[in-house]
Amino acid sequence: MKLILFGAPGAGKGTQAEFLSKRLGVPTISTGEILRAAMKKGTAVGKEAKAYVDSGRLVPDDVIIGIIQERLAEPDCQKGYILDGVPRTLAQAEAMERMGVDVDVVLNLEIPDETIVERLCGRRICKDCGASYHLISNPPQKEGRCDSCGGELIIRRDDSPETVRERLRVYHAETEPLKAHYAASGKLRTVQSQERLEDTSRMVRETLGL
Ligand code: ADP
Ligand code: ZN
Repeated sequence: MKLILFGAPGAGKGTQAEFLSKRLGVPTISTGEILRAAMKKGTAVGKEAKAYVDSGRLVPDDVIIGIIQERLAEPDCQKGYILDGVPRTLAQAEAMERMGVDVDVVLNLEIPDETIVERLCGRRICKDCGASYHLISNPPQKEGRCDSCGGELIIRRDDSPETVRERLRVYHAETEPLKAHYAASGKLRTVQSQERLEDTSRMVRETLGL
């Protein structure tokens, strides 16, 4: 199964990707997480990406395409994968198609803009493994600690209200038009992101026939 998870920041792509990855036994490839790891390590890619990520803009297409090319060549991607947060521009989508990336479904998680800002304020991520939590809808078992690795939970720098507004603007201007591209190929399936995590997960499973 090759799947793209598509949607605005805060739509819940990362959380659904985690569930689906376990269920399908394929890896999740999140360009956001790869970039955050590179920034933390201070690699060349991380240094190049930092100013974009911190201000809520898109990292240049050639950087993202390079990351994806490298990651998809790894052996664990042979059986399939879940792409979380990529492609985000038509140029990325076309470059991936030229690489031979042929996805089965593009799952579009829809969420109203008003809900996004409030959701991202409650988001916490694990400093060590990147797992995502939410104070209200998906709290960790132990306050401030990651369930899977025990790492400290922190607020993402780019979840500040100004940066969230910029990410939303960028989503509508540059990423949302891709919906038409995938609708045209008949691959787009849309699920409304629900207030309760379990409800969204159930609808996602139903939509994918899992
Ligand atoms: P979210 O979906 O909540 O915005 P991500 O973790 O997917 O969060 O992305 C965080 C940031 O990383 C983005 O705001 C952007 O700067 C950068 N980024 C991630 N994926 C891409 C991509 N495919 N193209 C360009 N920039 C990206
Ligand atoms: Zn963790």
